[in-house]
Amino acid sequence: MRPIRRDASPRQGDFSNYRDALPDLVSRLGMYCSYCERYIATQLAVEHIQPKGLPAYQPLQGRWENFLLACVNCNSTKKDKPVSLSDVLLPDRDNTLAAYLYSAGGEIQVSSQLNAHAQQLAQATLALVGLDQQGQTIADANGRLIALDRVKQRREAWLTAVDARGTHSGDGTAHRELPPC
Ligand SMILES: [Zn+2]
Repeated sequence: MRPIRRDASPRQGDFSNYRDALPDLVSRLGMYCSYCERYIATQLAVEHIQPKGLPAYQPLQGRWENFLLACVNCNSTKKDKPVSLSDVLLPDRDNTLAAYLYSAGGEIQVSSQLNAHAQQLAQATLALVGLDQQGQTIADANGRLIALDRVKQRREAWLTAVDARGTHSGDGTAHRELPPC
């Protein structure tokens, strides 16, 4: 999970409509889901880390520091689950790059290099957005079934990367030495 840098808010104070933050978030983070990292051409949403649907977090509804970008899959799995910032790893504040291992099969695993507490937090993040699940379908807020195809897409991205590595290194296992300048 790539760490992201949202930098300082482009506005003084909170956004009166959180959707207005979308262009600034996209310009700083790219059109990628902050959790599953897929490129999302449409339907990328302003994600509230601490969900706006819970009364306790409503004051954070327009708060820049509470925003990420999320795809429909991650967003609808996360829904209004309460989020305590000390119980999860988040790509805008933790080194999430070192926290996970991605396999050729599309699965994501928590790195055994982390200490036991950090492993617990990393696992909680996967569970929060359903990245610990195998491919399946879930119901969205309207009861419509959405395919959780993130596993399949990770597998495809892996194959593309392996293919590209083969193209650049010849046999796919070693990089060519560059001639000295
Ligand atoms: Zn996602």
